[in-house]
Amino acid sequence: MAKRARRSTRRSAASAAVPATSAKKLVSTWEDDPGDPATVPAPVPISVPAPTLNAQPLPSRIGGKAPAPKIYQPGTAEFRYYACATSLRRGSDFWGGIVPSLTWEVGKTLPVILDDGVDLNAFYTRGGFGDAPGLHFFHAAAGGRTFFSGESPDVVCHELGHAILDAIRPQLFDAQTIEAAAFHESFGDMSAMLTALQVESFRQRVLTDTQGVLNRNSRLSRLAEQLGAAIRVEHPDAVDHDSLRNAVNSFFYRDPRRCRHRRRPTPCRRNRIRSHACSRRRSSTSSPACSRPRATAPMAMISLT
Ligand SMILES: [Zn+2]
Repeated sequence: MAKRARRSTRRSAASAAVPATSAKKLVSTWEDDPGDPATVPAPVPISVPAPTLNAQPLPSRIGGKAPAPKIYQPGTAEFRYYACATSLRRGSDFWGGIVPSLTWEVGKTLPVILDDGVDLNAFYTRGGFGDAPGLHFFHAAAGGRTFFSGESPDVVCHELGHAILDAIRPQLFDAQTIEAAAFHESFGDMSAMLTALQVESFRQRVLTDTQGVLNRNSRLSRLAEQLGAAIRVEHPDAVDHDSLRNAVNSFFYRDPRRCRHRRRPTPCRRNRIRSHACSRRRSSTSSPACSRPRATAPMAMISLT
């Protein structure tokens, strides 16, 4: 996933609609990334109050008609809507609690396109050159199954992190340095992890699984497991073996000008791959998952549009 550095324009998504939600009604969603579909046992959704996306802080809006808030089964479009919506609300509440006066760079409300076509990808953009401003998610078939990037709380909160950082430090968005791009990717990963920790049941599970040692490989450190599984179907060495990126790793900072990547990217892909790769060190040193000088891997080595 990536931020898409395009011309800065401010316009709203034409098909956006405010979801009809009620804080008292429950919806089903994922506690964390739903993971590799081959994982046994399969993850079980949790039930949470229906989110109000257009509320403060940091309102967002998913394009299209919002389904009625109730419990839906995984695999349905309605479930995917609320998996995304609850992740957005969770992320906005978290970051809004830290920076109460924050407003989006793209306008009062952050537009979200839940399925913008075929791709194993997601991105944030200010808009322009054919892209509406906001968050874009996609779907793609791999291994006989269709994957939806907007269904993953990790992916949603990573992209939300790009929008948050753009709101805090807009100067970084188009900065012509790979260090700024790498920091953006790192911030997105940290946004995913810190937002996941807002879910109490997830915190308890991570503490149990790691026995309280948070710099162990865990559901917290593994980012976007499901998208990683989809990418590995055709590109088995493009991402980590158990996720898209894992915050528990042994990467250390290197001058980006001297970075070399074993995947031998084509020239048109090189700069963005380097920015993702260089984000690895940054995330680990400041993430709760890694108190040691480690870093996250790139969120999507091949999610390069
Ligand atoms: Zn990204």
